[in-house]
Amino acid sequence: MGPTIKLSSGYEMPQVGFGLWKVDNAICADTVYTAIKAGYRLFDGACDYGNEKECGEGVARAIKEGLVTREELFITSKLWPVFQDGDQVEPACRRSLADWGLEYFDLYLIHFPGALKYVDPAVRYPPGWHFDGEDQIVRSSTPTHVTWAAMEALVGKGLARSIGVSNFQAQLLYDVLRYAKVPPAALQIEHHPYLVQRELLALARAEGVAVTAYSSFGPASFLEFGFKHAEALVPLVEDPLISAVAAKYGKQPAQILLRWATQRGLAVIPKTTRLELMLQNLDSTGFDLDQADLDSITAKDAGIRFNQPSNYFSTDKMWIFG
Ligand code: NAD
Repeated sequence: MGPTIKLSSGYEMPQVGFGLWKVDNAICADTVYTAIKAGYRLFDGACDYGNEKECGEGVARAIKEGLVTREELFITSKLWPVFQDGDQVEPACRRSLADWGLEYFDLYLIHFPGALKYVDPAVRYPPGWHFDGEDQIVRSSTPTHVTWAAMEALVGKGLARSIGVSNFQAQLLYDVLRYAKVPPAALQIEHHPYLVQRELLALARAEGVAVTAYSSFGPASFLEFGFKHAEALVPLVEDPLISAVAAKYGKQPAQILLRWATQRGLAVIPKTTRLELMLQNLDSTGFDLDQADLDSITAKDAGIRFNQPSNYFSTDKMWIFG
């Protein structure tokens, strides 16, 4: 096992894991199985990714063949906004667990702040953002403290070992910390050189909340949505500064982007379906960047956020929300 981060819950979380967003159902089981074989132990899933059954098949095959035990894996899933009403949290978690074929999650996160009106899984699953499956955004009146209490109950029932939040900004994280009986062990956020999140990371560090970076390669993940602000930027793996640092250390640009994040104390969960890139991404902690190189990458900050719910709601994939 590579480096880990100790969570406030007492459990260890691998610092480099594998992301499961947009891994096609047809290849998902094989991808997870291959990633386990390559050495990955942390898998970052979610109800919203629509592939939890296939992820579970990959895990089951690896366990059956003796590649790993369940205890050696660290499996994350996430609660979608339409399941944030207090009485829907446990059924949603149990549904995800059943899809994975697991008895507990190592980490269960509130995927986005802000409850949306419940959508019965019999109507549509995963439900997505829109109440009618098309363009209607309908809020639920459930406040976050109610959802958080239901998340804490999952720990009490042994359904989740650690709980946390994703896409929460500083004020919201601070809000949860004020009433939490079980404090969030982890915060998962968009983080890349165009969005370095300095203040949020400082708050999380001060409060003992581990941070996981997602979309470490920045715009690359959002081109397929036609986001104009993603298309307008130089891909980070081709960026002249990142390429120069990569040449200096004899590494690939992707490894530099991941090492920059892990040296900032974050966990990373890169996604790829190509074995050579899986191995490259996993092999990204065995070297150290000089402080000056870390600082030059951090200085690229442009406050550009891609994974903004409103970006998906707009028809022209706007700049203004970016
Ligand atoms: P990513 O930034 O990890 O990867 C983007 C693209 O980069 C991939 O599609 C792949 O084609 C390419 N890539 C991967 N490794 C590479 C390499 N070594 N060299 C060159 N190109 C490479 O993408 P992501 O999927 O957005 O983020 C990673 C994971 O984070 C997701 O799969 C998901 O698990 C999680 N995530 C969470 C949220 C959230 O709201 N909590 C949002 C987005 C992603």
